[in-house]
Amino acid sequence: MQGFFVFTLLMDSARPMLNADQNEIDKFSSLAHRWWDPESEFKPLHQINPLRLEWIDGLVGLTEKIVLDVGCGGGILSESMAKKGATVTGIDLSDKALGVARLHLLESGNTVNYRKIAAEELSAELPGHFDVVTCMEMLEHVPDPARTIAACATLVKPGGHVFFSTINRNAKAYVMAIIGAEYVLNLLPKGTHDYAKFIKPSELLRWAKSVGLEPDELIGMTYNPFNKSYKLGHDSDVNYLLHAVKML
Ligand code: SAH
Repeated sequence: MQGFFVFTLLMDSARPMLNADQNEIDKFSSLAHRWWDPESEFKPLHQINPLRLEWIDGLVGLTEKIVLDVGCGGGILSESMAKKGATVTGIDLSDKALGVARLHLLESGNTVNYRKIAAEELSAELPGHFDVVTCMEMLEHVPDPARTIAACATLVKPGGHVFFSTINRNAKAYVMAIIGAEYVLNLLPKGTHDYAKFIKPSELLRWAKSVGLEPDELIGMTYNPFNKSYKLGHDSDVNYLLHAVKML
């Protein structure tokens, strides 16, 4: 009996707590069937996808790259990268989102390897395996974003590329991303985002640098409610993306 307890204790310390918030995963799961409807709750992801895809492709040239998409959801970015000629693995912890992502491949004819596994766990299995790792619109939904960033740094090859996108934390971001997007414009369901989990660029840069990711470009993304479109530019007050390179 005593041996059993020692064994379970050892097992627990060997498997650190999953860096995931089940409520967050459930939120995405409950909407997942509408993931590919461009007029659904996921409309913003459909709208921003061409922008981020072209930005990533311009920086790394996706053709023939081995790519990992962390927190891939229904696969909007994963599929578009595969279409550019990359070999893409998409990981998420929502069964429903992954189910939708797999089903959509039948319709689109694209190829993506979808797996239900945490980035931390995959980093033990495939360290230094990927040319490119993307982790978009996910860091603000995990309990410990620094750990996710560290896992991404382990998963990418030395000299490889990592991309993050998230939401800044300041008064303007609160007004635009929560009040504006969830309450005024109804772009997102109420409760999609939790202000306290938003991430300042200074924090993201510090976490990235601390795990050997050299920041290359931080770019803002703004929404214009009048012409209902997004664009990339200098303004990173609300939404922003980071490109970093894993040090050799
Ligand atoms: N990256 C995609 C989807 C963003 S929505 C895109 O930008 O198009 C956020 C996704 O993160 C959801 O699919 C949710 O299930 C996933 N997610 C949240 N916490 C996670 C975690 N700890 N590990 C993996 N995926 C997570």
